[in-house]
Amino acid sequence: MHKLPKPDPSRANTDYPQGDGDPNCPECWGRGVVSVSPEEAGIQTFGEITTFCKCVWKTEMDRNLERGWVGLSKAKRIKKSPLKGQEGKNLWVTATAERFRAHLRHIALRQGFNWMFRVVTDLDMMDAWLSKNVDKVIDTDIAMKRKRRHGKDLDVYISLTELIEPPKLLILRLGVKVTRNVAAPEAFLESLQHRDHLGKATWVLDQPICRLGPGHLDYDDRVGEYLEDWVRVDLEGGAPPQTSASTTSIASDEAPSLGKSHAQARKSKGGSK
Ligand SMILES: [Zn+2]
Repeated sequence: MHKLPKPDPSRANTDYPQGDGDPNCPECWGRGVVSVSPEEAGIQTFGEITTFCKCVWKTEMDRNLERGWVGLSKAKRIKKSPLKGQEGKNLWVTATAERFRAHLRHIALRQGFNWMFRVVTDLDMMDAWLSKNVDKVIDTDIAMKRKRRHGKDLDVYISLTELIEPPKLLILRLGVKVTRNVAAPEAFLESLQHRDHLGKATWVLDQPICRLGPGHLDYDDRVGEYLEDWVRVDLEGGAPPQTSASTTSIASDEAPSLGKSHAQARKSKGGSK
């Protein structure tokens, strides 16, 4: 069981009574808060000091996981992840969606339920990028996405910045968009640069069967150059392509490998392919 975040007695006190706990919870029986001693809370007061009950914590946590990425609360449980501690840094991760989901859940659970992260796909990016051309979208992926959205409560972003600015950690999941759009690398690069300008961390996620590189529809030379120095993590256990010499293993059950970017490795091999 993961460690609960430190109680915040001031907030819990203000919010008391919560009343939205699980009625079957043996700790609070639905009250949503539990009493803590002044010693535990580290403050002195005449009134009762309360903190959120574990059952509320779980509900709130699941809500945050689902907000960041639909289905994340149902992801597989893992014991550790090499991504832990990297939340504030730029990272280029290679993993299947399923495996990455498990790692992200592991990380998010340890950040508390107010942690603002979001997984955005390359399709979302293009949709936001093309948002001004509402009526005449010739990109078939975007047209279909908007058709599905019609009448449904799906996120609508009026601009790329609106989509990518807010999260503390933004995860750009590539390989979801399937039809080529010449502006895709441009939208991707602009997202990366804008995040950097804001001083906020971004993780780029590509798939083992569709690695970001020449031929990938989100890739061009400028993207390659921009990501050249990014730290890469391969959660599938394989060495990042063409980096066998520079790959550093880190201890984990999840068999990851942490290596320099393959663009960088290519350079060190004298630019040969
Ligand atoms: Zn409870």
